[in-house]
Amino acid sequence: MVAQTDKIKAFLAQDPVPFYIDGKYVVNSDGNEIKVEDPADQSVLAMASKASPDDAVKAIEAADIAFQSWKQLSTAERAEKINKFADLCERDTEELAQLETLDVGKVIENARGFDVPFGVEALRYYTDLVQKIEFETVLELADMDAKSVRLPHGVVAFVFPWNFPLTLCLWGIAPALAAGNTVVIKPAAQTPLSTVYLGKLASEAGIPDGVINIVPGGGPDMGEVLSSHPKVKYLSFTGSTAVGKTLGAACGANLKPVKLELGGKGAAVIFDDADLDAAAEGLAGAITLNSGQVCCTATRWIIQENAMPSFIEKVLAVLASTVIEPPMNETSQMGPVVSQTQLNTIKNYISEGVKQGAEVLCGGKQLDGPGYFFGPTLLKGSEDNICFKEEIFGPVAYLTSFTDEADAIRQVNSLDYGLANSVWTKDEPRAERVAKAMVSGNSWVNAHNVFAYGLPYGGVNASGVGGGVNSLDTLLDYTRSLSIAEPK
Ligand code: NAD
Repeated sequence: MVAQTDKIKAFLAQDPVPFYIDGKYVVNSDGNEIKVEDPADQSVLAMASKASPDDAVKAIEAADIAFQSWKQLSTAERAEKINKFADLCERDTEELAQLETLDVGKVIENARGFDVPFGVEALRYYTDLVQKIEFETVLELADMDAKSVRLPHGVVAFVFPWNFPLTLCLWGIAPALAAGNTVVIKPAAQTPLSTVYLGKLASEAGIPDGVINIVPGGGPDMGEVLSSHPKVKYLSFTGSTAVGKTLGAACGANLKPVKLELGGKGAAVIFDDADLDAAAEGLAGAITLNSGQVCCTATRWIIQENAMPSFIEKVLAVLASTVIEPPMNETSQMGPVVSQTQLNTIKNYISEGVKQGAEVLCGGKQLDGPGYFFGPTLLKGSEDNICFKEEIFGPVAYLTSFTDEADAIRQVNSLDYGLANSVWTKDEPRAERVAKAMVSGNSWVNAHNVFAYGLPYGGVNASGVGGGVNSLDTLLDYTRSLSIAEPK
């Protein structure tokens, strides 16, 4: 078991852990607090001060004032400060990883190896990108001197979910800050700690007061302020499709531009010529990574009929060898799910799925002992099952079989979600055909959950609206377009 660093002990011992507005840590004057739980043993990890809607307004006002000077800096000047912030995040990798593991239940090796470094890289990717691209384009028009200019919006509000609090926060704010916006961040109330810790690093990095503000609070009341306040010029939401629709509607009513990164029900199509060992390894990993609480992961495994028995045998062996332990153990490969609520959701889905005729191939149960540990679960059945159709958000996959390519594609596209799918085959032309035919933001070939900076990642239909994350499109989301013209 990894020992908490002294910095983390001191951070968690604060009573309560404050939040961050205008360069200062503050607490809610109402005394409202969030009980932050360790999902590995259900102990209270910390009490965090819960920001109120009034605090959100203070954060927005601070961000609006800070915007007036932040936007005046050159991209190089902003990049220098953001890169210093990135350096400090990197310096405190162990602290951020431990907070993420303690708060979310994700295994420490993943938090150290992915969540923190990949988040930090987002800051560096966008500071580099803003210095390479042109924010002004001269337009060759006959009768006028004209150009098109891209400018920051102003205050951008972010609402994040609990499954990747740090990574998603850095993926989101990196392009917004680099483009010259200031930000108000609302992390999920269940998992505020790593995000709140960023305030300390922002101050130390010399990010000017008010440029980054962090207000952990309730969903609907904070959403109301962030979607209606006139000084919030753009809203970025990552979370469930249901909340995305509500927030999107509120932004629409206020004509506030919004981007939505939403839920998914990813499919993996496995042909009989695929490397079944690699598919079994990759897809077992897809439901054990972060205990399956990954928006884009593969939770519908659509397998060519004749490959089904062999594939099942292989994947059951991989799942049986997965080390499920407290996530602070360096040997752990899968930890608990995030909360009792999430555990109940998973149990209810499985119970309903079984009632509707699904066969349980493995798992299906909470594991003995403290904490919200749930065994990796494979269900098999027909397409009309609730577990095929709805996002469960746990270590659960649902298997169906297909007869031919058209049948596989039909099954993939039978839902309204459109986040990420994969196709597993050695036949490259077929891989390309299927990849194009699956309606989503991302098609992966012989792999699932593939990320890189410069590789656009986003959703369509019920999975999202906007330029996604990790690409030039994302950066452009955080700018507005202005044309300037003078007749000759
Ligand atoms: P959620 O929608 O319940 O909550 C997300 C955030 O919205 C939280 O901060 C919550 O407090 C806030 N919220 C809740 N109600 C609100 C309201 N009415 N107005 C404004 N904000 C409100 O989602 P969750 O359970 O935290 O996260 C899981 C979901 O997030 C899954 O559906 C998953 O697929 C999705 N997700 C998507 C992506 C992506 O990139 N597409 C990434 C991660 C997670």
